[in-house]
Amino acid sequence: MKTMTCKQLGGACDKEFHATSFDEIAEMSKQHGMEMFQKKDAEHLKAMNEAQDLMKNPEAMKSWFENKKKEFEALPEK
Ligand SMILES: [Zn+2]
Repeated sequence: MKTMTCKQLGGACDKEFHATSFDEIAEMSKQHGMEMFQKKDAEHLKAMNEAQDLMKNPEAMKSWFENKKKEFEALPEK
């Protein structure tokens, strides 16, 4: 299991996600992001706006994703 926080995954809080693969942790952070979006949490809405800007540029999005994946792979197993 590896741990990354909401912030590390482009979010806005220190909530920790635990998963064995990056795809899994990305999915967990997405679910959490949608939850916070529904609660209209200002910090998460801001982070999401920035993410949407990134998504308009598929190349930038891809390299962001690759970087995060590398960050995840580099984490120690617990
Ligand atoms: Zn969060």
